[in-house]
Amino acid sequence: MGLLTVGEPLDWPETKKYASHVRSHGIDQFLHIFRARRNRRDETLKWGDEIEYMVVKFDHGNRKVRLSLRASTELLKQLQAAEDAGAVDLDSLWRPEFAAYMIEGTPGQPYGILPNRMERALMAKAVKEEEQGENISEMDEDVFEELEDHNDTITTMFNFLNQVEDNMRKRREEVRKLLHSDESVLSISVFSRAGTYDFCFPTSFVETVDGYSRSLFFPDQAINHGHPRFRTLSKHICDRRGSPANIQLPIFRDKKTPVPFVENFFQSMNIEKDQLSSDQLRQFKNISDEREVKFRKTDHVYMDAMGFGMGCCCLQVTFQAANLCEARLLYDQLTPLCPILMALSAASPTFRGYITDVDCRWSVISEAVDDRTPSERLGIDPTNGDKVRKIPKSRYDSIDLYICPGNEIYNDIPVLVDEEYYQKLIDGQVDPLLARHIAHLFIRDPLVLFKEKLNIDDSTESDHFENIQSTNWQTMRFKPPPANAQEIGWRVEFRPMEVQLTDEDNAALVIFIVLLTRLILSFKLDLLIPMSKVEENMKVAQRRAAATKERFWFRKGIVLPNCVVKHFARSKSLCEQAIKLSEQISLSGGTKIEKTKEAMYDSCVQLTANEIINGGGDNFVGLIPLLNVYLDSMEIDAVTRCRLTRYLNLIADRARGNIPTPASLMRDFITNHPDYNHDSIVNDSIQYDMLVQIAALQEDKIKFTDLLDTVKNMKAKKN
Ligand code: ADP
Ligand code: MG
Ligand code: MG
Ligand code: MG
Ligand code: MG
Repeated sequence: MGLLTVGEPLDWPETKKYASHVRSHGIDQFLHIFRARRNRRDETLKWGDEIEYMVVKFDHGNRKVRLSLRASTELLKQLQAAEDAGAVDLDSLWRPEFAAYMIEGTPGQPYGILPNRMERALMAKAVKEEEQGENISEMDEDVFEELEDHNDTITTMFNFLNQVEDNMRKRREEVRKLLHSDESVLSISVFSRAGTYDFCFPTSFVETVDGYSRSLFFPDQAINHGHPRFRTLSKHICDRRGSPANIQLPIFRDKKTPVPFVENFFQSMNIEKDQLSSDQLRQFKNISDEREVKFRKTDHVYMDAMGFGMGCCCLQVTFQAANLCEARLLYDQLTPLCPILMALSAASPTFRGYITDVDCRWSVISEAVDDRTPSERLGIDPTNGDKVRKIPKSRYDSIDLYICPGNEIYNDIPVLVDEEYYQKLIDGQVDPLLARHIAHLFIRDPLVLFKEKLNIDDSTESDHFENIQSTNWQTMRFKPPPANAQEIGWRVEFRPMEVQLTDEDNAALVIFIVLLTRLILSFKLDLLIPMSKVEENMKVAQRRAAATKERFWFRKGIVLPNCVVKHFARSKSLCEQAIKLSEQISLSGGTKIEKTKEAMYDSCVQLTANEIINGGGDNFVGLIPLLNVYLDSMEIDAVTRCRLTRYLNLIADRARGNIPTPASLMRDFITNHPDYNHDSIVNDSIQYDMLVQIAALQEDKIKFTDLLDTVKNMKAKKN
């Protein structure tokens, strides 16, 4: 969570005045880090997850549930007490998040320690081979032998994988001990009725006239008030863009949803009408009428505050790479997987009390923190019609650029850079691709500045760099070592996933990604597709039921080492695929697909998530079958292997549609609830029952299958 310096933040005009100062020193700070650490090597794979939670408060008498606004203050203080007192070896660490009802937990230490020797050896080989133009398939046998040589060191990693779910459970337990009897800590992506009348405890209403977010629905009190950063972020984003957020989601159309669906904003405002004077009411009415004119969109749910997006919970994983080069490789190779994993983890089917037609929170957050001015969005100055610099995307969005040398050809979407900083980076000996990446992040303004931290030592601190870096919220994040922490190396963060309803699922996703990084490095998989295709996938991935209903662009004819092809040939069920695969390989002469523009587009096919994860199509053997080959080549004890298989099965079953995503489970729960009127509305009673069940699940009082049964029974009764 980037900058959490305490102090008084500057107001927006002041912040804006210092924007160039921050950027320019931020670039210097990056250059210091780059020069000092470019050759840094790390023996160990370190990695860790982040889970965000919401604290809710049940009002059982009235069958209502509210978000508890003491999470980011009272509760967080207690959770951080041990760390603040200097304790080491803690099971978990706790961090503030945007909303007052949120907390974020990570393991106490990153998980380690897989010697990266093997991967490094492979990389060195890859480099040599590229220099010598060697044929890949000829050296595959060596690669396989090398894998076996390192079995014992790899085994260490698997012991760590055993701890992940246990640690997640411990984290939850730690919070639970501090809760009141009517509270629960939930890993849910979205609180269905956030933004409706009286959804907070203590009850809070909106400050539409002169608050931080000027929302009609989301009160400032629901923003984390334990630290000025969050409300300032909210305010400065509005100030910069010149209006409150404009978030639009298509409504899910049901039998009794009004046609057309057109909202009355004043009616929906989160205010206590009985307590307001007629003057105040008139003022609110005027504001909401004005908003209707400007922002109301037929058949869409309108949201107008940062909290609607940043108030959702997600699941992230950060890995330390062996070196700068490996970090760039992993950053690129994980990018095509972002939309796939987003679709598989989808958990956000409802917003502002409505069922919507998307399953993920991504577009909501993206619009929630879109600080672009109208001219930056349009590329035209609306006051005089002049052409100005157009910024294509929000600062919360998917990445635009692959950064590993050799992958330039896949960069086929516009990447805006700040030319001055680009040149400064080049002059500082940064290569063009990495310079573009940094100069691309640095097109943004800093949003929050503290007076006390304006002038810092660029050779020992990196606050200004981090300021810009940590407010570029993208699908992947390339994390340089911090200036002031010698023990931390080059890292990559995987950020597209939604948080899951159980720790088994959270662990499964996190471990799946960790294993994929090992697979990519060991088998030298090349999953790249043109960035424009990743972009298309991002849009598709958010659609309702994308995990089972949509197709995603994926790399065709991925070249596998001979040892892997042989494995598939040995396994009867996969034999046919293996033959096809070998044909493809021999067709392409056993070498990598040539990197020409045409070949690049020709090498994309549209596959379902199931075909990508489990294989079965003609074009790809599947990530899980590949992982199984990788795991079979390791010496892993039976208990650990079973556990890993269980996790992989969860992912496999989700891709097959045998297990619903959290989003589709929640949809089913809501639409089959006896109090649902087929009008797309999630009322208090439905949300109460749903969260009672989810809390029971997360407190181990019921099993996931019980929840599925509950939905099945409701469905049977409804019919
Ligand atoms: P942010 O919010 O900026 O992404 P956090 O500190 O909240 O960062 O979480 C980062 C994650 O990275 C945690 O899970 C942590 O355990 C893990 N981590 C910490 N140090 C390292 C490291 N050296 N290498 C890899 N991961 C690390
Ligand atoms: Mg964090
Ligand atoms: Mg964060
Ligand atoms: Mg977070
Ligand atoms: Mg993070």
